[in-house]
Amino acid sequence: MAPSFLWLQYNFAVDIVMELFDTHCHLTDLPLSHDLDAVLRRAQEAGVSRFIVPGYDLASSRTACRLAAAYPSIGAAVGLHPAWINNNSDNRFSPEPFRQLARLRSPVAIGEIGLDYALKDYSVNTQEIVLRTQLELAALLTLPVIIHCRRAFEPLYLILREFPSVIGVIHAYGGGPKLTEKFLALGYYIGFGGGVTRPNARKVRETALIVPPERILLETDAPYIGSHTVAKGESEPKDCLAVAESLAVLRRWSPTETAVLTTANAVRLFNL
Ligand SMILES: [Zn+2]
Repeated sequence: MAPSFLWLQYNFAVDIVMELFDTHCHLTDLPLSHDLDAVLRRAQEAGVSRFIVPGYDLASSRTACRLAAAYPSIGAAVGLHPAWINNNSDNRFSPEPFRQLARLRSPVAIGEIGLDYALKDYSVNTQEIVLRTQLELAALLTLPVIIHCRRAFEPLYLILREFPSVIGVIHAYGGGPKLTEKFLALGYYIGFGGGVTRPNARKVRETALIVPPERILLETDAPYIGSHTVAKGESEPKDCLAVAESLAVLRRWSPTETAVLTTANAVRLFNL
């Protein structure tokens, strides 16, 4: 019999050994950056005690590295997100500043990088070149990658396949069960966030049922992706608890099991 939601809430609240890992939150960005200590305290109170902060351009990557240096609970990722390519002098992308930053500041991953075909006025060709260049960098530095993808899962798969030594996470995954098998076969992890908390998000919830336990990561993409109860732009890492609760109900896992499993997955992928 599946445990009731209230039972889970109670147990999540009292389980002192629980340690949830938000593997994707933009603590560099407003409103989170404005009051970071309070954000981290609220997360801690919800049992969310570790964080990966991905960059999306050079400035945010530098800030993420600064946060990681200041807070032992934070790991940084550095990379150029497809939505920021145009700001980064189109066609002249060089991984060199990211490589230097990685050498100096030891990020845990290259990210977030990827493909976004939902964006208007962004060259698909340029996006693919920039992605390949950053996958080469990840291979060179033997770092995992954090992948953003919208409406480009097939081309993404073909590009990732060119880099067999690189693994990572497809964050806020929305690709559906069939494509999931392909990414799993490449060794990738699947990141589940606020989507899984929405009762009508059928595709995401179906996917959450088929991913092997050892490949599931939790995330919020705070403050951007909301959840069933939190509006877009207002989420915080503490909302990782609701993601864990939804996943636990779906998979019929205990709260402790869910926390131990997903945190161990993050530690393994990011070599922490
Ligand atoms: Zn993100």
